[in-house]
Amino acid sequence: MIISHNPYNGDEITRFEELSEEKVKEALEAADRRFSSWKTTSFKERSKLMKAAAKELMKNKEEYAKDITLEMGKPIKQSLSEVEKCSWVCEYYAENAKEHLANELIETDAEKSYTSYEPMGVVLAVMPWNYPFWQVFRFAAPALMAGNIGVLKHASNVMKTAQNIQKVFERAGFPANCFQSLTIGSKKIEAVIRDKRIKAVTLTGSKPAGSSVASIAGEEIKKSVLELGGSNALVVFEDANIPETVKSCVMARFQNTGQSCIAGKRLLLQESIEQEFMGEFVKQVKELKSGDPMDSETFIGVLAREDLAEDLEDQVKRTIEQGATLVTGGKREKAYFEPTVVSGVKKGMAMFEEETFGPAISVTTFKNSEEAVELVNSSVFGLGVSIYTEDAEFAAKLVPKFDDGAVFVNDMVKSDPRLPFGGTKDSGYGRELSEHGIREFVNRKTVYFN
Ligand code: NAP
Repeated sequence: MIISHNPYNGDEITRFEELSEEKVKEALEAADRRFSSWKTTSFKERSKLMKAAAKELMKNKEEYAKDITLEMGKPIKQSLSEVEKCSWVCEYYAENAKEHLANELIETDAEKSYTSYEPMGVVLAVMPWNYPFWQVFRFAAPALMAGNIGVLKHASNVMKTAQNIQKVFERAGFPANCFQSLTIGSKKIEAVIRDKRIKAVTLTGSKPAGSSVASIAGEEIKKSVLELGGSNALVVFEDANIPETVKSCVMARFQNTGQSCIAGKRLLLQESIEQEFMGEFVKQVKELKSGDPMDSETFIGVLAREDLAEDLEDQVKRTIEQGATLVTGGKREKAYFEPTVVSGVKKGMAMFEEETFGPAISVTTFKNSEEAVELVNSSVFGLGVSIYTEDAEFAAKLVPKFDDGAVFVNDMVKSDPRLPFGGTKDSGYGRELSEHGIREFVNRKTVYFN
């Protein structure tokens, strides 16, 4: 049985019988059969259906958002925005897929030579619960527009949401089995990856899960894309616009109750502005409204599961034992964790070295830009970094010094359908979104006419 509980009050929401091996095989067979006709459809046809999916998301956003909030504790307002963003990514690929995948003429000795981008087949997506709609749609919209078929193995605590995603595509009129959610636990993933009908796999989640999935895919010589954890730094230089930067840093860390891979988890402040910045920052953190995730006034909900709140509590505790100072927060009640600020954090301490997946931020000071860059790059993760300064020339010179997959100047790192998204180092490889994302799961065919 796969059971999902409301992390706010412990109520059971749904229980699903896990699919048997036989049923999984049937689903993959149906997906593969669908591929043979779906791959021949025109961009116009796919685009029409993808636009219908975008409309369906907007039409029934309350229904979808409610289940997201019930299953993983995200404040309802943020669940609604998430569903709206999914509509945007569907619109984006409906409009742009044809151009992103157009033949590319290349001049050679041939009469005519070019690269064409053709679908690969059935792609498996292993997805996490933190943005349970968005993570899936940013895979599914480009995959389907490219002519692939999607099979989802969602996180076990959001299986109703997973079924809702399948429902979006069905309600939009996509042919049966273009997109299916498999109700299975992670133990059954290996057999799915090894199945000959699966041509590639994408995983968003933790390093152990990514490492396991990519190893199996590697053995089978199947392409993989990994979007893993992050410990983004927010680097504030002394010439930054402090009021704007404080607001941005509060959002960067605390939205989605801190459960975002690209959240700013390590706040790095230039020594000279520490006091001024912290005064305003801590004030705003204390003002964040915690409460019932179904209440539209709530900004901080609960973590998606109680054990995740326990892990965060342990990281905060260990960091303080290592010599850091608790400035505000630090208390846990079941799955709820207070918005927390810990200052005096140094390299080697738990909150600096490990990813913290919840509403807690570490604060570290630095003397100059060399030290700031060194602190940023010392992380094993490389998803993104935000730098705050009024000096654009200085910022431009710093950009190439960071190892990360993204550098945002005077803004929090965020995903946007028009921009590539992905990491380096332990944050994974490959890119999602934009034309880079849609080209991950295609056969780049070289064509030569003589
Ligand atoms: P997780 O435990 O890795 O779970 C993610 C998915 O992988 C779930 O569907 C899970 O299924 C499955 N899974 C777990 N262990 C597996 C294994 N050994 N083999 C194959 N599949 C496995 O991650 P999480 O705790 O749900 O999510 C938090 C992590 O995801 C954080 O590290 C976060 O930074 C990262 N994340 C990254 C991004 C990004 O875009 N880079 C975005 C969001 C989250 P079950 O639920 O059935 O175990």
